Amino acid sequence: MCMPMDVLLTARHISKTFATGEVEVRAVADMSFEIYAGELVVILGPSGSGKSTLLNIIGGIEPVTGGTVFYRGIPLHQASAAQLTDFRREYISFVFQFYNLLPNLTALENVEITAEMSAAPLDAGMLMERVGLADRAGHFPGRLSGGQQQRVAIARAICKNPELLLCDEPTGALDVKTGVQILQLLWEFNREYQKTVIIITHNSDIAKIAHRVFHIKDGYIEKIVNNERLLSPGEVRW
Ligand code: ADP
Ligand code: MG
Repeated sequence: MCMPMDVLLTARHISKTFATGEVEVRAVADMSFEIYAGELVVILGPSGSGKSTLLNIIGGIEPVTGGTVFYRGIPLHQASAAQLTDFRREYISFVFQFYNLLPNLTALENVEITAEMSAAPLDAGMLMERVGLADRAGHFPGRLSGGQQQRVAIARAICKNPELLLCDEPTGALDVKTGVQILQLLWEFNREYQKTVIIITHNSDIAKIAHRVFHIKDGYIEKIVNNERLLSPGEVRW
């Protein structure tokens, strides 16, 4: 496959320091990289290495404390909190480890609520079918398994039809078989809709499905590996 080379995001020497009382933590020390439109990136690294902080910077949740980050020419490093909110609303969807569904809305309503907030949403009912939960659309999250809840969360994230989908340990709370189903959905979203997807994990098997793998250690990018031959989640021996 030919890699799309349209640059979506450019980060140069970004850093993020958290000051908690007397102690300063450098979650991101110095990272420079590009994200290309249409690629699937996996961010791999041990716990505490700065993966979530990096993803939150990319998604406009955390401002950087140093360096520059441009998203399609938008300088996120100079953006106000209100501008970051607008940026996220326009371009980004998140999937987290613990689903974060609204408990008093049905599965379908959880997906539809995003549609109401976005400019060009995909059809919520179609997405419920797409994630294999058409028959559970009327169920409340509390009646669904973890894997089913995560599928609803993915349908919700995709429904917004974002340019960039950011996933922080989306399979972290699931067993392997259920986790593979989740990865399959993310992989298909990247392929079928030509959307950019970034997945954080500490499972190196997951890296096999990515175009590129960022290896993170102690707030630095240790290396970026291009995968020559891409595997679909179904091909990986878990
Ligand atoms: P990972 O996702 O790889 O586990 P994180 O990005 O969550 O790593 O955290 C990197 C480092 O930054 C850790 O030492 C963590 O304790 C610290 N950290 C993350 N978020 C905050 C915060 N909001 N306040 C203070 N320290 C933080
Ligand atoms: Mg994390």
